[in-house]
Amino acid sequence: MLAGRMMDFPLTLTHFLERARTFFGRNEIVSRLPDKTLVRSTYGDFYRRTAKLAGALHRLGVRPGDRVATLSWNHQRHLEVYLGAPAMGAVVHTLNLRLHPNELGYIANHAEDKVVVVDRSLLPLWRKFADQVRSVRHVIVVPDCPAQGEPTSTEIDYEEFIAPEKDEYPWPSLDERSAAMICYTSGTTGNPKGVVYSHRSTVLHTLVVCNADTIGVREADTVLPVVPMFHAAAWGLPYAAVMAGSKLVFPGPHLDPPSLLDLIAAEKVTIAAGVPTIWLGILQLLDQHPGKWNLSAIRSTVIGGSAAPPALIDGFKSRHGIDVTHAWGMTETNPVGTLARVKHALSDRDEATKLGCKASQGYAVPFVEQRHVGEDGTILPWDGETMGELEVRGPWVASSYFSDEGPDRFTADGWFKTGDVVTIDREGYLRITDRSKDVIKSGGEWISSVALENALMSHPAVLEAAVFAARHPKWTERPLAAIVLKEGKAATRDELNAHIESKFAKFWLPDDYVFMAQIPRTSTGKFLKTKLRELYGDHLEKQGAAE
Ligand code: AMP
Repeated sequence: MLAGRMMDFPLTLTHFLERARTFFGRNEIVSRLPDKTLVRSTYGDFYRRTAKLAGALHRLGVRPGDRVATLSWNHQRHLEVYLGAPAMGAVVHTLNLRLHPNELGYIANHAEDKVVVVDRSLLPLWRKFADQVRSVRHVIVVPDCPAQGEPTSTEIDYEEFIAPEKDEYPWPSLDERSAAMICYTSGTTGNPKGVVYSHRSTVLHTLVVCNADTIGVREADTVLPVVPMFHAAAWGLPYAAVMAGSKLVFPGPHLDPPSLLDLIAAEKVTIAAGVPTIWLGILQLLDQHPGKWNLSAIRSTVIGGSAAPPALIDGFKSRHGIDVTHAWGMTETNPVGTLARVKHALSDRDEATKLGCKASQGYAVPFVEQRHVGEDGTILPWDGETMGELEVRGPWVASSYFSDEGPDRFTADGWFKTGDVVTIDREGYLRITDRSKDVIKSGGEWISSVALENALMSHPAVLEAAVFAARHPKWTERPLAAIVLKEGKAATRDELNAHIESKFAKFWLPDDYVFMAQIPRTSTGKFLKTKLRELYGDHLEKQGAAE
């Protein structure tokens, strides 16, 4: 073998920091506080403050590999921990503030967090589980709102903490394979599991997120991560923006549609990313007030985390001229795995075909590989029809969980079992039909809840639809649909069935509809089908008994 003779330059986040300071010192970072005031800063200032934070963490005794947890909304100081902790050799661990305090206690203990950085507005939450966490020695409080009462003896003000330090830090040279961040899965079944991103995986992921055919983050962009920084590293957008030098806009805790639209218009956001429920709300508001917000700067809205219905993607484009990029990923995949773009060779196809591509979960981004397998482990054909479990591999796909839990998710030949049931067509576009645990098995046949939801959400009166399995005496399971209607709109069971019946075999149609004010959600905004099954799992059995 002839060895390559190129430098073995480490792929670490330290480079992003240095690059931001060297080239983009003037570029802006804007953060919205809980009281809605906007704090304006620059990458130059961010660099200096991050260096001070690293110095302060070192002073506190934080050493390589130690976990520094955050319990924070999206804002600049959170970004300082995102970069500062890993670049000084520690590991940032983002705690999901929507979880139950007991779950947070479990996760913080499991990760053995040593320091926790908490927004003052979230101190009441922290104090609910602080007693359960044995490993945390220091609590650094981000003053995002006025103080209420005296801090306890372990709580230190973030600004006072970093103030004495120099605005330079002797960044250590790090092994690119060392840990940079830990994120926990949302764990709707069983305990959450830790996924440990390395510097290398995060750097490679960032390079691909900035690729023109993926999200394509550029220096000239203004990036708004609506997706929380505790949800799979906000899909890598904070790192992508720092590497590219893009203006960053952080929304803080105000994630309601009017607040987001105000921010997008005022800051001339070009890329915004969030889960479908956020965008469904925004689209409804835009439809009610066309032209109220000037959104002409937007280049792309990235939607992922759960399936974006075609009606949503089409509604943004056809009624408001806004392009949607649909992406699939998981905490275990750092997280972007696939992304839906219409290939050039398909660009002259009819609109329905192109929408079909855009509303699919797309195909794997560079360096991620995809396949789907049957229940007996056979690799399935890409015919667009055969359903199987999606497996992926690549340099930013987990090879194991923290403390080696869940080994059954990793195959002997080096793939990760996603738990998503998909079809893959000849072009490679994959379509998620369900999480494997949500598949509806009616008399031995599989029914895709996602396909039914997409069809229902194209009805003009339907805001949200979640289809799930209810127990059935004859067919074992049958589909039941939970529906949230748009404000002031009405629809009956028969109207909804009539709207979708031409698209599906008769046995796919929901047996019944339940109308709700809101569909229960997971901590990251997905439909919580376990809760729906708990509430309505016996709905059809009861009906049978009543008939
Ligand atoms: P999490 O690790 O919490 O982000 O959850 C990952 C799971 O979210 C995936 O395994 C999918 O089931 C689901 N998911 C993520 N993105 C999409 C998408 N674009 N369409 C459908 N499901 C998605």
